[in-house]
Amino acid sequence: MTFFNNTVNLRINDALKYLITKFYISPVTDLCHILWKYFLYLCAMQNIENMDPNQQKKGLANKYGKEELQKRLDAETFKRRTVSLYRYVIIEDPQAFRDKLYEQWDALGCLGRIYVAREGINAQMNVPEPKWEAFIENLNTHKELQNIPLKIAVEDDGRSFLKLTIKVRNKIVADGLDDGSFDVTNVGTHLTAKEWNEAIENDEPIVVDMRNHYESEIGHFKGAITPDAETFRDELPEVLEKLKGKEDKKVLLYCTGGIRCEKASAYLKHHGFNDVNQLHGGIIDYARQIESEDLDNLFKGKNFVFDDRLGERISNEVISSCHQCGEPCDVHVNCANKDCNLLFIQCENCAKEHEGCCSPECISVIHMSEEEQKEYRKGKKNQKIFHSHKRVDLSKRFKE
Ligand SMILES: [Zn+2]
Ligand SMILES: [Zn+2]
Repeated sequence: MTFFNNTVNLRINDALKYLITKFYISPVTDLCHILWKYFLYLCAMQNIENMDPNQQKKGLANKYGKEELQKRLDAETFKRRTVSLYRYVIIEDPQAFRDKLYEQWDALGCLGRIYVAREGINAQMNVPEPKWEAFIENLNTHKELQNIPLKIAVEDDGRSFLKLTIKVRNKIVADGLDDGSFDVTNVGTHLTAKEWNEAIENDEPIVVDMRNHYESEIGHFKGAITPDAETFRDELPEVLEKLKGKEDKKVLLYCTGGIRCEKASAYLKHHGFNDVNQLHGGIIDYARQIESEDLDNLFKGKNFVFDDRLGERISNEVISSCHQCGEPCDVHVNCANKDCNLLFIQCENCAKEHEGCCSPECISVIHMSEEEQKEYRKGKKNQKIFHSHKRVDLSKRFKE
């Protein structure tokens, strides 16, 4: 009996506690909840503004869907020239500069991805050939872009972009560095392709690939250190660690177009390296120079590029292999399951056999109906099976 009474007492206690909580605490938590929601809303707005500050401004952003853009591109009767350019230069009002560029380059029919920041500009884009002269003239009307070096792609069908996107960012390359902590203008010595070849052949330098693992995997200079980093941000400390104790050796840095080496060389010099050199114009311009000056090509394989081509061939060697079957291959694909989107190397046979997917899970997803996919994604938001730039061992995924 006492046992029963105790239980009833406990229940009454619980009920009282519940009522107290309900009447006294709940208004406070509700208020917190509302404030939290408002805070999240502000964050989202901030994000949207950062993503594309001109989404709302008429005429200053692309307004067509993907299919429509592809149709327009297919209907074109002229050629496009793929070009990349960058410059570290103070841009006083990045937003106004961005708007002006968008207006003028959109009018010329340019397509591509361009970042503008207070520290400069970084552009991968293409220009209709009939408008090339006008484009060069336009560059020279901006004091920030006068005589800017242009890197024109060698292997190119000019169809690498669907639309023109110009974004204002804090930095033109995400390097994670506190620029105030060292002199970013104290960069390394710029080498031409000819000087670069001579240094490699005669000076026993340390050659460092300043790109990410998936870039150096399909092509690099012979003997180069190729860090395992997924981002440039991770790469700088990794390189510093690898080169420790070699401060007096000749260091040769290279990247896709030369921009990352601008920061990397200043960073290494700041950390006590005495003889830091960098390939001027990067692999893109190296390829052009070896062709126009008939120099030896010391770069093996393909140069990874961030447009739809995902790589341009510099030499005929295939230095990487299919991540699924191990056959020689240097073709990057994104997994056909858009939720996964993993960037990996896949040969033609595997592409056919696995339907462009990285794993059995992804094949099952692409076979679901729209409805089933929706259901499958529920609660899985932001849980991509793989992060798109991770190095993942795919060799056993179809054998398990
Ligand atoms: Zn394969
Ligand atoms: Zn996948």
